[in-house]
Amino acid sequence: MALTPDQIAEAQALRATPRPTLRAVSEGMEARLYTPHPVLDHGFIRVIDYMGDDAAIVQAARVSYGAGTKKVSDDAGLIRYLMRHWHSTPFEMCEVKFHIKLPVFVARQWIRHRTANVNEYSARYSILDREFYIPEPGQLAAQSTVNNQGRGAVLEGAEAARVLEVLKRDAATAYDHYEEMLSQAQPDGTPQQGLARELARMNLPMNIYTQWYWKCDLHNLFHFLRLRADAHAQYEIRIYAEEMARMVADWVPLAFAAFEDYRMGGVNLSAKAVAVLKRRLNGEVVGQEDSGMSKGEWREFVEVWG
Ligand SMILES: Cc1cc2nc3c(=O)[nH]c(=O)nc-3n(C[C@H](O)[C@H](O)[C@H](O)COP(=O)(O)OP(=O)(O)OC[C@H]3O[C@@H](n4cnc5c(N)ncnc54)[C@H](O)[C@@H]3O)c2cc1C
Repeated sequence: MALTPDQIAEAQALRATPRPTLRAVSEGMEARLYTPHPVLDHGFIRVIDYMGDDAAIVQAARVSYGAGTKKVSDDAGLIRYLMRHWHSTPFEMCEVKFHIKLPVFVARQWIRHRTANVNEYSARYSILDREFYIPEPGQLAAQSTVNNQGRGAVLEGAEAARVLEVLKRDAATAYDHYEEMLSQAQPDGTPQQGLARELARMNLPMNIYTQWYWKCDLHNLFHFLRLRADAHAQYEIRIYAEEMARMVADWVPLAFAAFEDYRMGGVNLSAKAVAVLKRRLNGEVVGQEDSGMSKGEWREFVEVWG
């Protein structure tokens, strides 16, 4: 179960007791506060708290620009200007805190983003639930033949069934052993001490779920989304990032639109790529050999520019 009845009741109770505030409020984020959104088979993500809105970005930027903002006095224009020119500190004035339940192997990728503040569920203190990520059949794919860091065709028939069976059986066996080691009684009822939780957890597979609170400022959250809501990111982290992106779009619509335009939808060009584009615009036919680019660079260039 992605959400326990307690978690659902807690979110409902928090939403049922609004309080007046003098702080900046984002209507889009208020509508989302506390409510968990299911992700994968047992995971979820929800917003626990946030600080700032589009206006907070503009307000911070105006400290540095002062009266000079007249030219870009329109909020959307100023936010687009900041994004376009990598003037990032105003975006750091906004913060958001998420509660996320995710498989451990996803958490390992996620924790590489060092600019967040994290507090994780303690498996030294508590007993982990019997919850393992088992991919949907459509996500059970073979190793990609063109991308060493990716998947290719979906597994079919007996192979797919066998893989699913192995994943489920191994998870169940590992969890049975976890419980056995923790238990203060042997299977036949004979008393035993029971192994410490901090040790018993070590044979659990990476598809078991963990939970954490993850707090990040908007600048670094955009960096996270740029990398993890991208097609090159693994599906299992990408769908969390995509859900977060929808939340951010509701929270700071102007900043998110600028991010989508310049970062997600935009393209970085090397000096060599700019030179090739200029030559092409002048009618020259340019190939990889006389572009000064490597084969890899050229492939990526052609993917965008044809
Ligand atoms: C598709 C994909 C594949 C990947 N494959 C691998 C892989 O095979 N192996 C692997 O190990 N990782 C891999 N990673 C992880 C990747 O290398 C980064 O560690 C991860 O994306 C976090 O990025 P970051 O360091 O920029 O983010 P953050 O840690 O959030 O940092 C943001 C920025 O702050 C600065 N910063 C933060 N901390 C420091 C610091 N201590 N020193 C200097 N600057 C700092 C940097 O400018 C950094 O870009 C992969 C990531 C992606 C998206």
